[in-house]
Amino acid sequence: MSAKFTKIIATVGPASTSPEVLEGMIKEGVNVIRLNFSHGDHATHETTVQRVRAVDEKLGTHTALLADMQGPKLRVGPMAEGADLKAGSAFTIRVGKEEGNSTEAWTNYVHFAEDVKAGEPVLLDDGKLKLRVEETNGKDTVRCTVEHGGILSSRKGLNLPSTDISLPSLTEKDREDLAFALTLGVDWIGLSFVRNAADVVDLKARIEAAGSHARVVAKVEKPEAVADLEGIVEATDAVMIARGDLGVEVPMQQVPMIQKRIIGLCQRSGKPVIVATQMMESMIDSIAPTRAEVTDVANAVLDGADAVMLSGETSVGVHPIEVIKAMRSIVMEIEKEPHIFHRNVAFMSDTPERHVTDAICYNACDLAERVEASAIVTMTFSGYTAYKVASQRPKALIYVFTGNRQIMGQLALCWGVEAFHYDKMISTDHTISDVKTLLQREGKVKEGDYVIHVASMPIAEAGMSNMLKISRI
Ligand code: PGA
Ligand code: MN
Repeated sequence: MSAKFTKIIATVGPASTSPEVLEGMIKEGVNVIRLNFSHGDHATHETTVQRVRAVDEKLGTHTALLADMQGPKLRVGPMAEGADLKAGSAFTIRVGKEEGNSTEAWTNYVHFAEDVKAGEPVLLDDGKLKLRVEETNGKDTVRCTVEHGGILSSRKGLNLPSTDISLPSLTEKDREDLAFALTLGVDWIGLSFVRNAADVVDLKARIEAAGSHARVVAKVEKPEAVADLEGIVEATDAVMIARGDLGVEVPMQQVPMIQKRIIGLCQRSGKPVIVATQMMESMIDSIAPTRAEVTDVANAVLDGADAVMLSGETSVGVHPIEVIKAMRSIVMEIEKEPHIFHRNVAFMSDTPERHVTDAICYNACDLAERVEASAIVTMTFSGYTAYKVASQRPKALIYVFTGNRQIMGQLALCWGVEAFHYDKMISTDHTISDVKTLLQREGKVKEGDYVIHVASMPIAEAGMSNMLKISRI
């Protein structure tokens, strides 16, 4: 199968945790497996990780694992069958665990009545139902009026877009899930309902304290996060545009421009960015996507996303492998468009210590464009050059040779990048001829192709790329 630049993330669930389906999805182009800690128990996640590793072993792939924390997702409790909320009528939300009906519901969020204020909206079931707070006793009971009614079923989500929620973005459950996920050696941790850069810094400190090198995906799905985008992008390693909750927390019509803004910001910072949720939604139960969905995936690629994500489509959908095939065909069609490449984005955080490396990466892409190189090869331990080169969106695949196995999975999320393990440290010249042989043997380049090498000379100067070379296979 020919390579694509844009990566595909598949959320796993009951429809896709069998070894056969995992293998099928990875063969069809999945680069990242997302373990959704909102569902499934630890034993199931552990089994999935083992199976993904086994598939990687068999196929020679490096699939990234993204452990997505549930975060402070609020929900209503159990509801009686057919509870119908009528517009204009009163509805009470109480703190507790009892079964709700058409006039009241319970939530397990203990600070609910403390946090909300009269006049604020309460959205239920992804915003399909809308209430307005009339009065709270500040303890356990909140009286509301139904603005948009409908059927409310058990355990539906509850969003408070105008309320300052006193829950931390890493709840007690998340802290346990995080500790467990880190023991599984996952590559990425998804931080849900991020509000500001401090949330990201706090998670990173916890990951480091656990002795892990996992990186953070900040999920932008709250208005506070949209207000602090620059700070969050700077603090995090990657961003997910979590359109599901985002479209409930901010007016849905604002989501498309927020998507474009986040992608631009991430590219300028050299941080991978994921477009998520409802991309191929109708394929949860249908064999083909709608034309609108096809266009949405295409537009995410045109906007410059590093990765496009599937949720229910692969976790509970009936065609988990077909949906990957369909998504890959859209991605690859759009990648024929010349204008998605060479965006010449100026780097944003041009720190003095990285100044030379950044300039080398920028010029590697310029050179690649001029000679129509088919590959850019970087030697890296931290992965820094790979992210920087990728953020320029060169029309050459980016092959990373690294002695650091920890970054191989992480880089699977990054646009256009494929990683190889390489730990010989003889000399820069030796390495360059070695990787050319390796790439040719793997069928990544062919005779006559130009390759751009980004390296450091002398080779012991790891961490500082200061050399560019064009070679011909
Ligand atoms: P979720 O995040 O699937 O964990 O809710 C993605 C989103 O909200 O879009
Ligand atoms: Mn979400």
